[in-house]
Amino acid sequence: MKNKGICPKCGGEDIRIVEGFYGRYGEGNSFSLGIMGLHSFKKDTYICCDCGFTEEWLAEEDLETVLGSKKAKKRPKEE
Ligand SMILES: [Zn+2]
Repeated sequence: MKNKGICPKCGGEDIRIVEGFYGRYGEGNSFSLGIMGLHSFKKDTYICCDCGFTEEWLAEEDLETVLGSKKAKKRPKEE
């Protein structure tokens, strides 16, 4: 959706973007990764205005923080 501008659920093209922000602790764009408590992430939300499907994307600079966290477990490989 972010890359193609098309909803993966319904094929709609009316995609709106709500830009994320770095908020203070406890605001909607935060979640805990066990590093110094709560870490705030910038999450852009992509919304399909045809069916309501939403997608959230972290800022690239936050991905290193995720990679450095023990709480963000690697998805197990399927057999
Ligand atoms: Zn849709």
